[in-house]
Amino acid sequence: MSQFNEDGSVGAGDCGAGHDGGAEAADCEETVHRLYHYLDGELTDERRKAIQAHLDDCGPCVDALGFEAELRRVIADRCKDRVPAQLRERIAELISHERLAGDSAHP
Ligand SMILES: [Zn+2]
Repeated sequence: MSQFNEDGSVGAGDCGAGHDGGAEAADCEETVHRLYHYLDGELTDERRKAIQAHLDDCGPCVDALGFEAELRRVIADRCKDRVPAQLRERIAELISHERLAGDSAHP
């Protein structure tokens, strides 16, 4: 009696575990997805409140939001620093012009 069919009817009771609490993970995933819109300010007040309510008792999502916010701040800072060379030249020109004008009118 040690022969198994290839139909695979062995261990029929194995499945069942791991299907517990799956809904919570999905909720988190959705929340993290919404965080992107939340940061972009694309959400309505209603949704923002729902996300904040979720963040109140979900550490992982709070971390995700903190990371995203930090990342965006860094990107914004970098973009500010990256001034086009053309623009920088123009500004330098304007400054030098102003200096010359001030020089000619010095007391
Ligand atoms: Zn969550």
